[in-house]
Amino acid sequence: MTSARLKRVEESATIRISNIANRMAKDGVDVINFSLGEPDFNTPKNICDAAAKAMYEGMTHYAPSAGIPELRTAIAEKLRTENKLDVTEAEVLVTPGAKQAIFEIMMGVLADGDEALLFDPAWVTYDACIRFAGADTVWVPTTPEKGFIPEDFSEYITDKTKLIVANTPGNPTGGVFGKKTLKCIADLAIDHDLLVVSDEIYEKIIYDREHISIGSLEGMQDRTITVNGFSKAYAMTGWRLGYLTAPPEILKLLQKIQSHSVSSATTFVQYGGLEALQGPQDKVTEMVDRFRMRRDILIDGLNNLGFNCKKPEGAFYAFADVSEFGSGTEVAEKLLKEAHVAVTPGIAFGPSGENFLRISYATSVDRISEALERMEKVFS
Ligand code: PLP
Repeated sequence: MTSARLKRVEESATIRISNIANRMAKDGVDVINFSLGEPDFNTPKNICDAAAKAMYEGMTHYAPSAGIPELRTAIAEKLRTENKLDVTEAEVLVTPGAKQAIFEIMMGVLADGDEALLFDPAWVTYDACIRFAGADTVWVPTTPEKGFIPEDFSEYITDKTKLIVANTPGNPTGGVFGKKTLKCIADLAIDHDLLVVSDEIYEKIIYDREHISIGSLEGMQDRTITVNGFSKAYAMTGWRLGYLTAPPEILKLLQKIQSHSVSSATTFVQYGGLEALQGPQDKVTEMVDRFRMRRDILIDGLNNLGFNCKKPEGAFYAFADVSEFGSGTEVAEKLLKEAHVAVTPGIAFGPSGENFLRISYATSVDRISEALERMEKVFS
């Protein structure tokens, strides 16, 4: 009585771990939760005020399915100036979160038996959405020695390959793709006539590196779907607001999926997004500075414990090799049971993550320091 397609998809490991941690916390255990991908900061007040004002002014009705015109225009302007993408407002689709954008893309462009390339390790939802669409994931291994940055991967491309997902800065490794890597992906996409889905949701959370949009490289405009959102840069995870830009014929298909499923992103939330883009950006800089400080404390602490962890250049995750102490799953279980510290086993993000843990440092310095002390007791 159930869909075979759904049986191919597993529960999100990040949400599963977080649920266990929440249950323990409910039972009175002081769990330090490093498993979730959300900033612990509040949404900046000017954004909340703009959404509240819109709500009180009656922006509580259905919005146009593709998004309110003001926000589509502001997003197109941002993509042109910051990302060097040649985009008009008609080529922007506002979605209820970047996750919904990725779901719509996979459902819109993949068919049964198609193949999609993921650089291993990759965020859990890509594989799930590829499977929802009836297609198959082909994992392209990357290595910690090379900072999990892909190199020539032409051997993984077949007649069935339809698209490549590029996520920079990346979840779970915090890796940043430079121009050379993006050019290599672009060249292969052009040579083999493939689409690239570029998930740039962490673009603003980047340390001493420049973010480059692959869609701005020569020959990529017509084969890139760029995804972004407000959750990470503006601490707006619960608002559910994201967007994508795609070549017109693909955008039309995705609009169809959106209008017949979720209809649109919430109307007054979109006014909050407009303020996020057009208002002051100092809170973003402040958050990134605080993430940087936490990153430095966490990475030093993890390496002192005997974990092997390079400094990530973006996002807010440490991806630590724990093979000295067991597999990622074994160490994560031990940490949860004995130190009451919740982290995500790297295997959740693909086969290359087997001996790794993903540790989200979207948590205060005090909690990071306390977690490191607890971990030291378990592993010393
Ligand atoms: N893309 C990546 C790489 C993510 O890590 C996440 C959230 O964890 C998302 C997209 C989803 O973002 P949103 O909250 O806009 O759905």
